[in-house]
Amino acid sequence: MVFYVILRVAIPSPLHKLFDYLCPVELEGLAKPGMRIKVPFGSREIIGIVIDTDVHSDYSSKQLKTALMLLDADPVLDATQFWLARWAAHYYFYPEGEALQQALPVLLRKGQEPTFAHATLWRATAHATLSSLATSAKRQRELLELLLRNPQGVSTEAIKIEGFSTPLLKALADKHLAESFASHPRPYQFATGSETILKEAPLTLNEEQASALYSLLNPSHFHTLLLEGITGSGKTEVYLQAIEAILKVGKQALILVPEIGLTPQTLSRFKARFQVPVMALHSGLTDRQRLDAWLMARDGSARILIGTRSAIFTPMKNPGIIIVDEEHDPSFKQQEGFRYHARDLAVLRAKKEDIPLLLTTATPSLESLHNALDGRYQHLHLRQRAGNASAPKFKFLDIRGEALQAGMAPELIHHIRQHLSAQTQVLIFLNRRGFSPSLICHDCGAVNECTRCDARMTLHRSPAHMHCHHCDRQTPIPKRCHQCHSEDLRPSGAGTERTEEQLKSLFPNIPVLRIDRDSTSRKHALENMMKQIHTGQPCIMIGTQMLAKGHHFPRVTLVAVLDADAGLFSADFRGMEKTAQLILQVAGRAGRAELSGEVLLQTHHPDHPMLAALVTQGYEAFAKSELVLRQGAGLPPFHHHALIRAEASRQGWAEAFLRSIREAIETHLSLPPGNHWSGPFPSPMEKRAGLFRSQMLIQGRERRHLHTLLRMIMQEVEHNPMKNKVRWSIDVDPIDS
Ligand code: ADP
Ligand code: ZN
Ligand code: ZN
Repeated sequence: MVFYVILRVAIPSPLHKLFDYLCPVELEGLAKPGMRIKVPFGSREIIGIVIDTDVHSDYSSKQLKTALMLLDADPVLDATQFWLARWAAHYYFYPEGEALQQALPVLLRKGQEPTFAHATLWRATAHATLSSLATSAKRQRELLELLLRNPQGVSTEAIKIEGFSTPLLKALADKHLAESFASHPRPYQFATGSETILKEAPLTLNEEQASALYSLLNPSHFHTLLLEGITGSGKTEVYLQAIEAILKVGKQALILVPEIGLTPQTLSRFKARFQVPVMALHSGLTDRQRLDAWLMARDGSARILIGTRSAIFTPMKNPGIIIVDEEHDPSFKQQEGFRYHARDLAVLRAKKEDIPLLLTTATPSLESLHNALDGRYQHLHLRQRAGNASAPKFKFLDIRGEALQAGMAPELIHHIRQHLSAQTQVLIFLNRRGFSPSLICHDCGAVNECTRCDARMTLHRSPAHMHCHHCDRQTPIPKRCHQCHSEDLRPSGAGTERTEEQLKSLFPNIPVLRIDRDSTSRKHALENMMKQIHTGQPCIMIGTQMLAKGHHFPRVTLVAVLDADAGLFSADFRGMEKTAQLILQVAGRAGRAELSGEVLLQTHHPDHPMLAALVTQGYEAFAKSELVLRQGAGLPPFHHHALIRAEASRQGWAEAFLRSIREAIETHLSLPPGNHWSGPFPSPMEKRAGLFRSQMLIQGRERRHLHTLLRMIMQEVEHNPMKNKVRWSIDVDPIDS
C-alpha cells in the first residue's frame, strides 16, 4: 500500500470549495501554506494557493490528480495576509481561491517571480554636492538630495514614483552630478534612523490633538481610536505625528483613504513631511509598479503605504499602525464580487498584528459610533478648528414656492454675488452630473427612459448625448417624442452642466469651474482647475461629491447645497446618515483658513427634524438620535443584515429562484434563532443593464446565527435546479439596498 501526501489547494474559481491534489514526491516537505502551486484543473493548468499540506481527503488517491509544480520557495502570502484573506472569504461568503488571488498583485497571480524588476540604478557622483547646484534649481536639488541620501542607488522607477521626471535626471547626469550603474534586483532601500525621517518640522499640537496622539500611541498594542473632529480640526496632523513616532521605532504605517481621497494634494502632504519612501497604491499604477510597491511593503523598505480599499491586503514586514481616514466613506466597502469592508477588515488586521488602529472622520459611521458608545473603541474629539479657522455658520434657504434658476433660488444668487464682491470663492454642490436628469415631452409627458434599466436617461450637452448613469448606455438626443412624435422635448430639472451654464450667464466676468466625472475625465483637467482655484482669485466651483472630499480651499467662504433634501425620503434606511455626512463634508470646505464661512442649504423641508438637529445641534446629536431609531427598528448596527441578490435575463426568474431557496429551507430545516427573512422583493431598480433583479433580506440578532443561515443557503443553492439561470450573490453587511 502506497501512502500519498495530499495537498489542499484554493483555486480561483467561482466554486465555494477547496481542491485536493496528490503531492508529487519531489515536492514532499517543500509545500507550505501560502505558496503558489500550479495544478491541473479541468482541461487547464491553473495557479492556486496551498492551504494545507498532508490532509486527509474524502477522495481516493485514484480519483485525485497530481499537483504540477510549486512556484515559491517561501510562502508568497505572509501569515497575516493568508489569514486575513481567508477570514474575509468565509465572512463575506466569497470563494477562498478568488479572495486569496485578490490579495496578490496581478503579476504574482500570473505566476511571475516575487522579485523586483531588474532596474537601472542611479547614484550621485563622487564629487556631487548640493552646492554644485544653484538654489533656484529647486527640483534638481531635491532629486540630488534623494540620491545623496541613498548612496546604494535608486532605480529610475523609484525616482519616478518619488515624483521626479526623467528630464530632471538627465539634467543632473549632464552636469555629471548623477550616474547610472549596473542593474540590481532591488530598486531602492532607504537609509533608516530617526535623523532622516522628517523633511519639515511638525506643528505644535493643541491640547486636544496632543491628548489624541497620546491615546493613540499608548499602548502601542491593539486598540481602536475613533477620532472625531470637523474638517480642518487637525486630525491629519495628529496622525502624521503618530506615523512619525512609529517610523522612529523602525515600523511601517498603512493609511487607507477613500477612492476619491487619494489626491496629489494628500500625497504631497506626506511627501512634504517625511523623507522616508511613501508608496501610493492606486489604480494608476502599472502592474509592475504595483508589484514593486508590494515587494517594498513586504520587505519593509516602503515605510508609509497609502491606498484605497484593496490596500488592506498589502503586507507589512514591521507593522506599526493602521489608519482609516474618513472611515465613514462608502467606498471602503467593495460593491461587487468580493464584497469586503476594508474598515472592518482593518480592525481584524490591527488586532491580529497587535497594533493601534485609528479611525478618523468628521461624521462617524453609525457602526463606529455605536462601537465607541459601547466602549469597544476609544472616542476622542477635536472640537476646535486648528490654527485660526472657525466653524462655518449654517443657514436654511426655504425654496418652497421659489422660482429657481437652474436649481438656484434668487436669495442664493444674491449671496453668491455678495461673496464674490468680497473677493472670495464660492462652492456649489449638486450631486447630479449632466445637464438635466430628464428629458420630457411637453405635449404628452413621456420621459426618455433607458431601454435596459428602470431609469431615466440623463441629458448631457457637452458633448450632446443622452446617458444612462446606471448601465452607461448612450444615445443621440432624440428629436421627437417616441410616443406622440412631438418635437417639443424639454429638459426638466438641473444637473451640474445646467447650473454651470446659468452661473456663467449670471456672472460673465467670474471663472466658473465645473468639477464632476465628465469635466475631469481628461488628463490634468482636475489638476488645472485646482491650480486656478489655488491662485485664490474669486471663482465659482460647481460640482458633485468629487468636490466634497479632501480638498483644502482656503479662499472659499460660501458653500451652497442646492438639494439638501436628496436622500431625506429615500427607501434606504441609511439615506439620512448618508445625507448628513455629505452635507457636513461639503460644509467642511467653507472657511478652512482665516476667513469664516457660510453654508446655505436649499430645502423644501426646513423643519425636517433631521436637518434641524444636524444644523442646530451638530452631527453627533443627529447620529445619536438616528441610533435610537435604528435600535427601535432592529436595524444595523444593532442587528446584522445580509442581502441575497439575484438577477436573470427574464422577469420572474430571479424572484422564483430566491423564493425556492427560502421555501426549501423553511420546509426542511429549522431556522437558527433570532433570524428574520423578508422577500424576495424586486430590487429598488428592478431592471438594470437588461437584467431583472430581485433580493431577499436576512436580519439576525447575532452574526453567528446569521452566518449559520447563510451557510444553509449556500448548500441549498448547490442543489437548486435554477442556479444556472440566475446570477446570485450574498452581501454580508450591505451598505445599500
Ligand atoms: P483635518 O484632517 O481634521 O481636516 P488638518 O490636520 O488637515 O485637519 O488641519 C487643517 C489645517 O490646520 C491644516 O492646514 C493644518 O496644517 C493646520 N493645523 C493642524 N494642526 C495645527 C496646529 N496644531 N497648529 C496650527 N495649525 C494646525
Ligand atoms: Zn410626447
Ligand atoms: Zn441603463
